[in-house]
Amino acid sequence: MIKDLQQVTVYDQRKYSEKVLYLTLEKTMDFIPGQVIGLALSAEKELRYYSIASEPGQKIGILYDLIETGVLTPQLNQLKNGMELYMTQPFGSFLSTKENEVWIATGTGIAPFLSMAKAGLGYKKTLIHGAKKKEDFLFSEVFRSQKEINYIRCSSQERGEGLIPGRLTQYLISQDFSPDTNFLLCGGPQMVVDVREILISKNISHDRILSEIYF
Ligand SMILES: Cc1cc2nc3c(=O)[nH]c(=O)nc-3n(C[C@H](O)[C@H](O)[C@H](O)COP(=O)(O)OP(=O)(O)OC[C@H]3O[C@@H](n4cnc5c(N)ncnc54)[C@H](O)[C@@H]3O)c2cc1C
Repeated sequence: MIKDLQQVTVYDQRKYSEKVLYLTLEKTMDFIPGQVIGLALSAEKELRYYSIASEPGQKIGILYDLIETGVLTPQLNQLKNGMELYMTQPFGSFLSTKENEVWIATGTGIAPFLSMAKAGLGYKKTLIHGAKKKEDFLFSEVFRSQKEINYIRCSSQERGEGLIPGRLTQYLISQDFSPDTNFLLCGGPQMVVDVREILISKNISHDRILSEIYF
């Protein structure tokens, strides 16, 4: 991973649910939707990595889970407008193409797909988002407003209009996919392992599965 740090200023910080925040940095730079940045509070500290959730051409934004016992996120949560931190250049190869793709995310793993959708990459895409409750489907209004995205929400704990009951993995087991479909997976390690296993059992080849693991 790279470490050419530059100082950046916090532009805004918003709470999206009890433990999910969106941090906007006073910085516009070139990136491709799906890329990540490294962040640290000082140049000596170990970096943590975050998918860019914002649209190219706009300020850099990240969506993060507050991990109470974590090293960086409790400190990110304290940041106020005008405060400074350190950031790497955007990097990574978790990128969308013009092909048929199924985007699969749990929780804040929705971030790179938010950037992709805002960048107009939703054509021929299915987005399957897994979360506990309706309120956890962050930015659903963005995905619902983009009619070319087949947007599917799997809710493990809530029933309601527009929600498929059960875990995302249960939904995937019930589906058939064309072998020429590409899959982009983003979220925690367990989800990625489970989903890969399901897809491989459905004869999707390894090279059609791209994963971004939040560890
Ligand atoms: C390529 C990449 C992209 C990432 N993008 C994002 C992102 O867009 N948003 C985001 O919130 N995180 C993302 N992460 C995870 C992020 O880098 C940090 O690990 C996370 O924010 C915890 O940092 P911390 O210092 O607070 O906790 P730490 O002290 O590093 O770790 C605390 C514990 O929390 C676990 N953990 C890490 N991430 C999560 C999570 N999201 N939910 C629950 N437990 C977690 C770790 O495995 C560890 O056991 C990404 C990781 C990688 C490698």
